[in-house]
Amino acid sequence: MNTKMTENPAPKMPASLDQDQFLTILSREEALARFEAALFPRELPHERRALADVLGCALSKDVTAPIDVPPFDRSNVDGFAVRSSDLASATEAAPVRLLLNDEVIACGVAPVRPVLSGTATSIATGGPLPRGADAIVMVEHTQPAGSRAIEIRRAASPGQFVSYAGSDIARGEALLRAGTMIGSREIGMLAACGIAEVSVARKPRVAVISTGDELVQPGEALRPATIYDTNGAIVTAAINENGGEARFLGAIPDDEVALEAAMRRALVTSDMLVLSGGTSKGAGDVSHRIIARLGKPGIIAHGVALKPGKPLCLAVCDGEPVIILPGFPTSAMFTFHDMIVPVLRRMAGLPPRSDAKVAAKVPVRIASELGRTEFVMVSLVEGADGLIAYPTGKGSGAITSFAQADGFLKIDALADQMPAGTEAEVTLFTPHVRVPDLVIVGSHCTGLDLVTAPLARAGLTVRSIAVGSLGGLAAAKRGECDLAPIHLFDDKSESYNTPFLTDGLELVPGWRRMQGIVFRKGDARFEGRSAQEAVRSALADPACIVVNRNQGAGTRILIDRLLGDARPDGYWNQPRSHNAVAAAVAQHRADWGMTIAPVAHASSLGFIPLAEEHYDFALVRARKQRSAVQAFLDALASQEARNALTKAGFRPA
Ligand code: AMP
Ligand code: MG
Repeated sequence: MNTKMTENPAPKMPASLDQDQFLTILSREEALARFEAALFPRELPHERRALADVLGCALSKDVTAPIDVPPFDRSNVDGFAVRSSDLASATEAAPVRLLLNDEVIACGVAPVRPVLSGTATSIATGGPLPRGADAIVMVEHTQPAGSRAIEIRRAASPGQFVSYAGSDIARGEALLRAGTMIGSREIGMLAACGIAEVSVARKPRVAVISTGDELVQPGEALRPATIYDTNGAIVTAAINENGGEARFLGAIPDDEVALEAAMRRALVTSDMLVLSGGTSKGAGDVSHRIIARLGKPGIIAHGVALKPGKPLCLAVCDGEPVIILPGFPTSAMFTFHDMIVPVLRRMAGLPPRSDAKVAAKVPVRIASELGRTEFVMVSLVEGADGLIAYPTGKGSGAITSFAQADGFLKIDALADQMPAGTEAEVTLFTPHVRVPDLVIVGSHCTGLDLVTAPLARAGLTVRSIAVGSLGGLAAAKRGECDLAPIHLFDDKSESYNTPFLTDGLELVPGWRRMQGIVFRKGDARFEGRSAQEAVRSALADPACIVVNRNQGAGTRILIDRLLGDARPDGYWNQPRSHNAVAAAVAQHRADWGMTIAPVAHASSLGFIPLAEEHYDFALVRARKQRSAVQAFLDALASQEARNALTKAGFRPA
């Protein structure tokens, strides 16, 4: 694919764009191999830098210790330098008396007198061992015996309390290897050897550009149909985390001329260019067409068998890597960490990242598409025997799952699933495992944060993973969480939650959430009416649009009961959350729907109360005595939490 495209670098006509797309889909391994072959081996620029200026840099040459550390045999304690053979017979009953030599070896004082048999020399911690001495006796283990002598009541082994020259670092030993990322410890080692300057790899300068007409920078106001530029900030930070020096150049609209100019400018002053967006089939997607004109050999891979991440585009333009990450932030992150970080680190003179991978067991079966390497976002929790990796992905469009995710795992292209119980390798987004003190898996509610706030203040970390009531219940049964928040209505007993508990689980009452009809204030079809009247008047108006909820949601049951057989316009719009319903009504995409009171009020919408839902916790009994669980139960019962819940529109049980 790459050779064909560089033979014919002329811009493609828009009409042929569809056929252009992903003519050759490469496997992940093939794409990476071709990309690396086009980039390496290469000369890595390096520079000499003063010690004060090398934190976070990668050493570019091995450093050999030029001296012994410590440079001489020295005392580890305050005491007396002795000949151990003099003390062989010393006991409590028969102390040995040693004459004091006429000198005191302080730090920085070179001894002049030898320690002859029968004598001792006073020495401070860090003082050089005098000639003849082979051990130190601590001052606490001696008694003065007149002004010129001491008594010692125990034997000393040769070498006692002595640090020998070179025992920490030996002259000629490899002190630090090329590729070591320099931290405070490494700086200490270099300083101990007297090294003031080292050769480090020059950090690759990486230009970052976001593309898309819809992007607005954080800090600015969103206009209709615009979204915040997420990739710019994430990619910039992730580059800096992996040895690069990122420069964010902003978001460029989907305009071929403007984008080409920005890309050419970026290439002049950088060693690498990372774009995001504009690489899939959209008519406005132009960046990959520009790349073909920027330099040889051009596009190496456009379309990689990844899920998500198929639109990834890898190119090399006159020696410089140019990458277009997929637009969806999660896809951008997966492909960046999996395919770009290895290349970036090599260019930065760093070895592959070893601290960013952990092994963890996957508790549930994960289905996977055959033929594509699949990335699955996971949240790590501590299980009975090791880490558990909880899949939290919600599709490539969701940035929200990022908030709960620690990293991701990969399912091989040749596998159609990852069976439950698999020990998988998890790539961490940030090389630091945060094992939470309290794990809450189940239905999400904004009230939860109000209860867990004091835990966070007390330094306890809380992980809440939103998988819905049934998913939470299953996790609780497997013992993977402490608590599962649920709101499940049992038709038979006409009661909430309790009928769903099994052995090993107990119910902790949470709070009630008022569900009702949400509408825009002032809408006469709803204002001042009961729920039944409001629905009647909505159904009477063919222009009135409803927003529904997904099958399985407790709220959906209520809507269906109200509607009976009616299927008004909007019925098949079935978002999965209370917030999405409020957003649809607030943004005039629908006129009414069913949500919970706090969400309606937060959006300043009108609300007609209908029925109270019980939001309770299934507590895993085996984990009840854990201190974080007790802290949660205390917080739940506290007046502070009850007040906060009430204020937010919930009714504590
Ligand atoms: P594209 O590949 O440009 O078609 O983008 C795919 C999806 O990702 C679209 O929904 C874009 O709005 C979204 N997207 C693209 N770039 C960004 C970005 N920098 N931040 C957040 N979302 C983005
Ligand atoms: Mg775009």
